[in-house]
Amino acid sequence: MSKRDYYEVLGVNKSASKDDIKKAYRKLSKKYHPDINKEADAAEKFKEVKEAYEVLSDDQKRAQYDRFGHQDPNQGFGGFGGSDFGGGFGFEDIFETFFGGGSSRRRDPNAPRQGADLQYTMTLSFEEAAFGKETTIEIPKEETCSTCTGSGAKPGTKPETCSYCHGTGQLSQEQNTAFGRIVNRRVCHHCSGTGQIIKEKCSTCGGTGKVKKRKKIEVKIPAGIDDGQQLRVSGQGEPGVNGGPAGDLYIVFRVQRHEFFERDGDDIYCEMPITFVQASLGDEVEVPTLHGRVKLKIPAGTQTGTRFRLKGKGVPNVRGYGVGDQHVRVKIVTPTKLTEKQKQLLREFAELSGTVTDEQQESFFDKVKKAFR
Ligand SMILES: [Zn+2]
Ligand SMILES: [Zn+2]
Repeated sequence: MSKRDYYEVLGVNKSASKDDIKKAYRKLSKKYHPDINKEADAAEKFKEVKEAYEVLSDDQKRAQYDRFGHQDPNQGFGGFGGSDFGGGFGFEDIFETFFGGGSSRRRDPNAPRQGADLQYTMTLSFEEAAFGKETTIEIPKEETCSTCTGSGAKPGTKPETCSYCHGTGQLSQEQNTAFGRIVNRRVCHHCSGTGQIIKEKCSTCGGTGKVKKRKKIEVKIPAGIDDGQQLRVSGQGEPGVNGGPAGDLYIVFRVQRHEFFERDGDDIYCEMPITFVQASLGDEVEVPTLHGRVKLKIPAGTQTGTRFRLKGKGVPNVRGYGVGDQHVRVKIVTPTKLTEKQKQLLREFAELSGTVTDEQQESFFDKVKKAFR
């Protein structure tokens, strides 16, 4: 089942403010609350609304969602364990979940944070996916500014602790109400929640501590990768904040269709046209495979739709567990353009074989009769 867009679930548009999102959530969660709403799908809708709100109300999760959309970790990862992947690929392991990895609520703005993850979509031809490939990709990437080593302050100066929030990045406001004292916390607008004030900004990065670059990354695509699968290249995402580790780069593969072959896992399927003469008398034909042409014996009396298996002529398993097979389905082609001579010979052939095969037809009509009884 495909997941609905979170904005759509809440009925807000992409540029909705936090307040709009909160309002929409309050309204919908009330409407679908299982204690109030007794419709059969209310609980399901309530859950959907709650999930959408959890993501869109969290700045970081929202940014990630805006960039990557829904990423269902159960899709397109058939048979991927990842543990025995590593080796010389430089890939750490396989994508698990974008939203995993603990709480994103950060109280301390100065605590080390992991950089954002990047996603890169790579289109491969059918053959490239089957045999793997080495390539270099260029990704736009933020890097730690080397002039200020990421502090954002002009070399020789240091960011100062924000005197309004004392480095916490938050301002508290106390209010006495009829219910007692309420403490409101909000992001410190003097330092934008960073807890630091940069008096003299680094001229290279303008105080952000980061510079945009295009980075070349060499990628070895393992043989047998399939459409929709993703690989994680560890540490090639955006740089961390406050000395935190860099994010990861996810490469998502799209595999182009092939004119002749169809792939299902490690196996390849194709259809091979043969003449009714080849089917009747038997023949040896050449079948194209990913591994070159292969001879296939067609036995005399072969029916249309018969499948033959070419062992080991499929796609190498991405985890190294052998190679799949190629399945060839023969399709008998009825000739459409016949010369007078050919027609004559076929008429003679028909006379010799009698009308349409009696026995087969009899049993066919028997079956039909039974079916209607
Ligand atoms: Zn700088
Ligand atoms: Zn502050």
